Amino acid sequence: MLNVKVPKKVVLTTFVMGITLGVYFGASGSSVFSSAVAEEAATAESVVSPVKARERDYYSPNSESLAADEMRVIACGTGMPTTRAAQAAACFLVELGNGDKFIFDIGSGSAERLSSLQIPYDYLDKIFIGHLHADHFGSLGEMFIGGALLGRQKPLRIWGPTGRTPELGTAYAVQKMKEMYTWDLAGRVGLVDFRGYSIEVNEFDYKAENAVIYEENGVTIRSFPAIHSLDGPVSFSLEWNGLKFVFGSDSYPNKWFVEYAKDADIAIHECFVAVPDLVGKMRFTPEQALTVGTQIHTAPEAFGKVMQQIQPRMAVAYHFFKDFDTTAAINDRIRTTYGGPLSLAEDFMVWNITKDDIRVRMAVVEEHTWAPPLASAAQPPGGDPDREKYGKEVGIPVKSLGYSDFIKEGRWGEVDDVLRGVYQEASEKLGRDFPYPETEN
Ligand SMILES: [Zn+2]
Ligand SMILES: [Zn+2]
Repeated sequence: MLNVKVPKKVVLTTFVMGITLGVYFGASGSSVFSSAVAEEAATAESVVSPVKARERDYYSPNSESLAADEMRVIACGTGMPTTRAAQAAACFLVELGNGDKFIFDIGSGSAERLSSLQIPYDYLDKIFIGHLHADHFGSLGEMFIGGALLGRQKPLRIWGPTGRTPELGTAYAVQKMKEMYTWDLAGRVGLVDFRGYSIEVNEFDYKAENAVIYEENGVTIRSFPAIHSLDGPVSFSLEWNGLKFVFGSDSYPNKWFVEYAKDADIAIHECFVAVPDLVGKMRFTPEQALTVGTQIHTAPEAFGKVMQQIQPRMAVAYHFFKDFDTTAAINDRIRTTYGGPLSLAEDFMVWNITKDDIRVRMAVVEEHTWAPPLASAAQPPGGDPDREKYGKEVGIPVKSLGYSDFIKEGRWGEVDDVLRGVYQEASEKLGRDFPYPETEN
């Protein structure tokens, strides 16, 4: 019999098997019952009223205030290096009641998940990267460029590990990424508020064991080594207000996670695609599937064993394609070794965590979001106090290069009359003079 630790109160929504409610509902692994639904069903008034709003069983971004003692975690990527529309790659957002927000990994496709949460980009300025696989930082460039374009007016702050040589570390990767965007950035000089086009990199020793790498505003973030592909990967813990969040990034089961993830309120660890599905669906050879699925990554059975050891208030498994024909196998394999609270993560799963309660829901997002509100007023192009400093970092010109005469002469001046009208319209509507830049040729 497995020794199951049941949290004080857990509202169970999707694939969460707390023993108390599991027995009450006779729930299977696919139970969708929740105590909120049960309470509502017991109150006839709330069920029969055709006009009264009832409690939502999903999270709608920008509709709920965060309590002063509350942590909210949102999965913004739970998938694989091979991209798919249904799941971005690794990314978890942590929001705290003190106003701080942290991004842990920013894998391919996750920037658009983050954008759909409608959070001002000035608040999304802290990114912790567990390792430098594309599925864990592939959206960094989009967050860097797109975030600045949509309102981040300060540097993007990045924390990530060293490697065995400088070229295998985070600082090198970020510098090369900035260089990759030389043309992109050079073309924006003089056209946009440039304050957000800057990056602060904080590289720390990948071998450090439970070392503090961030300590601000009552939040402490620690790093400890992970075992995955090459030396370099790390896992993180975040502690604030008596709550502990742990994010494994990628790792084979390791002694550091077992030790330093203890007492986690929420422990997120990779749980890789089961070996038969690696062969059947990803077309790996059996040899490759066994190596990748059990030695480089954490197999579901091994994930369960790790969680059974550390006993978190909520264990979160991610890093598999969650489909109708894969989920049951993942769950069954985990349940051979672990009996505690479990979330099989998918994109937009949300955890609201307090000392007494963990509520698990899905977010329903607006896919057609535009820019979120600005945290502070935008500057017209030209102010750009960081432009010179930043230009030196990546070697882009400090002043706009503009077009060559060859390209300038290709502009078709026949549109001047209609575009002049757009300037006139803006001048009249806004009560300011916007002179039209006449075509020179
Ligand atoms: Zn990886
Ligand atoms: Zn990965």
